[in-house]
Amino acid sequence: MANRVHNFNPGPAALPLPALLRAQEELLDFAGTGMSILEHSHRGKEYEAVHQEALGLIRSLLAVPESHQILLLQGGAHHQFAMIPMNFLRPGQRADYLITGSWGERALEEAQIVGHAREAASTRQDGTFRRTLRPNEIPSGEGAAYVHYTTNETIHGVQFHHTPEVKAPLIADMSSDLFSRPLEVARFDLIYAGAQKNIGPSGVTVVIGRKSFLDGGRTDIPKYFRYTTHAAAESLYNTAPTFAIYLVRNVLSWLEEQGGVAAIARQNEEKASLLYRALDEDPDFFRVPVERDSRSRMNVVFRLPTEALEDRLVHEAKKRSLMGIKGHRSVGGIRVSLYNAVSLASVEILAQFLRDFRTQAWP
Ligand SMILES: *Cc1c(COP(=O)(O)O)cnc(C)c1O
Repeated sequence: MANRVHNFNPGPAALPLPALLRAQEELLDFAGTGMSILEHSHRGKEYEAVHQEALGLIRSLLAVPESHQILLLQGGAHHQFAMIPMNFLRPGQRADYLITGSWGERALEEAQIVGHAREAASTRQDGTFRRTLRPNEIPSGEGAAYVHYTTNETIHGVQFHHTPEVKAPLIADMSSDLFSRPLEVARFDLIYAGAQKNIGPSGVTVVIGRKSFLDGGRTDIPKYFRYTTHAAAESLYNTAPTFAIYLVRNVLSWLEEQGGVAAIARQNEEKASLLYRALDEDPDFFRVPVERDSRSRMNVVFRLPTEALEDRLVHEAKKRSLMGIKGHRSVGGIRVSLYNAVSLASVEILAQFLRDFRTQAWP
């Protein structure tokens, strides 16, 4: 496809071309029904099959044990920021948040509106974040209603490469790295991820919860905000975001064809180390603020010597169809997102472009 660019967008982000082509092919006439999947009832057998296939793919790709239920909800990660404390943080209780970037801060702010949520540990330094917490810095969480953390801080490019050991139910925002690497689901009581980074389009959120934990949620809140409502209805309590879930099905069946999460993790590792290697060739020009063992394989964040050079880099990149590398507005700099659908070939082209740019700008 000659006119497809190299898409390094942070989210919504690149989708696998085969998943899009499949949607294009099936759009007007889904499975011989003479209408698109967008026009089908969410209660009909055609959509029901897509819905169950998406749930089945999530279960098999992540090896989700029977102890855990998969939910497909709406409202993105932000809805989970609120829904989690609404369900699990009761008066007189405390929730512990581990803060390693802006998304964790946002989650904590929402929880503090609901109840007693506190920053139990943080790596904030000079107003920014350069690393995750080391195992010996993780508070025990003893007595907390739950401990919440963010596996990959998308804005700061900081990613956990270990799972915190705590003495309370463990909840993780995995919006930007779920499905990018294998994961031991049983260690978590609740996992959530907006789909628009690695899983599909915006509009649907994947939630994986331990059934016994979900069942302990509050029942004195509106039904729609209870996990148990959606669990009992297999995520069809009300009209589901059918087209978004259909696309998740396409993306995850593509992922299955790639060899699943273990295979994509090897590719993701290769992509990230290729890019970091190019940056590390000249740390005076490309400054990676994140400490080495906390570097994200999904979002590679770096600075150039001046903002003018950063602007020029983004501008020159665009001319070569290398799109979406401007850093988040809150932190500036450059951010390259390397989600599952970004090919190794795209990263090779970007790495070569960065080398060329450096030798020209900084001879
Ligand atoms: C993108 C992102 C969010 C925000 O997601 P919404 O779906 O827009 O609410 C939250 N947390 C993380 C880690 C993210 O990457």
